[in-house]
Amino acid sequence: MPSHARAALIIVGHGSTVNPDSSTPTHQHADTIRQRGVFSEVACCFWKEEPSMREVFESIDSPVIYIVPNFISEGYFCQQVLPRELRLSGPTTLRDGKTIHYCNPVGIHPNMTRLLLQRADEVAPGVPRAETSLIIVGHGTNLNENSTKAIQDQVKLISEGGYGFAEVIDTYMEEAPFVADWHKLTTAPNVVVVPFFIADGLHSFQDIPVLLGMEKETGKALSQMDVFRQNPIEMYGRHLYYSSAIGTERLMAEVILDQVHDFDQKHQVGSGIEDPGSELTQPAALAAWLESGRTVIGQVKITPCGTGYILRHIEDADTDSLTKVSTPEAAREISRVDAAGEFRPIKTAPTLKRGWQLELGSLAELQLALEFFYPAALGMARSQQVGTLKPVPLRELLGRQTGMYRFANGITDEQAGEMIGKCCATATKCLRRIVFPLDATQPLSGPATAKLGNDAGHMEGQTHAIPLLCMEACNHIVSAARKVARANFEEKEVKGSQ
Ligand code: SF4
Repeated sequence: MPSHARAALIIVGHGSTVNPDSSTPTHQHADTIRQRGVFSEVACCFWKEEPSMREVFESIDSPVIYIVPNFISEGYFCQQVLPRELRLSGPTTLRDGKTIHYCNPVGIHPNMTRLLLQRADEVAPGVPRAETSLIIVGHGTNLNENSTKAIQDQVKLISEGGYGFAEVIDTYMEEAPFVADWHKLTTAPNVVVVPFFIADGLHSFQDIPVLLGMEKETGKALSQMDVFRQNPIEMYGRHLYYSSAIGTERLMAEVILDQVHDFDQKHQVGSGIEDPGSELTQPAALAAWLESGRTVIGQVKITPCGTGYILRHIEDADTDSLTKVSTPEAAREISRVDAAGEFRPIKTAPTLKRGWQLELGSLAELQLALEFFYPAALGMARSQQVGTLKPVPLRELLGRQTGMYRFANGITDEQAGEMIGKCCATATKCLRRIVFPLDATQPLSGPATAKLGNDAGHMEGQTHAIPLLCMEACNHIVSAARKVARANFEEKEVKGSQ
């Protein structure tokens, strides 16, 4: 595809607050595209992880941005949630001097067919397609008929495309035709099963293996990838080959680029990109902070060394026996789980593990590593410095929630202050300083005031660090608000009935 060397790409994933594997493919596809140098910047953002869809724009310097949803289907998320959270007004949105193009989700691109074929061949190497039934598995639920459609489209494309399979069928976990009936629905001696999901998780690791009959129960701790290493499994007189989720296929990065290419073709996007002007770029801001002695961010200490940088946990400044790593991506692995191996969905939790030393060769590598340690933090600090950061009032955030969270705004002002004081406590929960108000006219009050302010120090006794700012309350606060609002509602109901 032609270069978009002065444009940025944002890949949007769902993410998870409990499953560390959920965001992995999205990050890996971003790594692949970043290494190819097609875009000036490549970033990820998530519905359930950091950075959020509001925060990610702060980390982008480029004047043109392409957004590709790493989702399987069109529908509720891609048509409602994402445009709302990303503040999009159509295929192209002009905002804050930037041109933002919103592409189709990866799962509906015709080239998904190529990935399915490749995955089928990889999982059953040398097995003749003429003696193989290919099953594409989806979740299947009345709530998302688009995901069923995306799978049915692929079944049709492969069946009618002359690819040589004995048969190609769609099955689902929660609606007919059920994947549990695979042995009745297929006739060939070999059966290849490919989950049509963006990431591996409980469905592909546990639920589908149980439905296929490979495992007896979901409760036991499966050693995850082992599920995919048992191929083939002899069942019902057939050879069953089970694949990991299609979204983990490395060629997904190509499909992301295909969606950008298709957007350009369809909307006839030209190359007339304006210069971003004299705005302070993130690399320039980072260099200036380091120059002025701001060499700490969160729990990371940055030490300039020649033309490169050495990063350590702030408590490891004088420790000798550290594990040395040297790629920006290592920062993502380090920050993924805490010292006890627990997933860290909030990257600014004061739980960064110790024992590592990250050696980086350039400012660009440093910027990327810090982006992995603290997503979008540099961008928010830069925007705050130049006066362009637009914090989102808590009431505005809670008021735009839909689905099960639509009642979240039913908390009182007092409850909001207490909830934030408790859920955001610096010592135990989150190092960020809150810069969003309660609403357009009132600041947060009560215990929340301990979290306010954009001063550089976020750890006790720290006064000269690159700030970690919170411009919009995160998912954890929305969930907590929902619980409090629900209790308020139930209390009212009880009183009303007395
Ligand atoms: S809302 Fe609280 S816990 Fe969430 S990111 Fe902001 S400061 Fe941290």
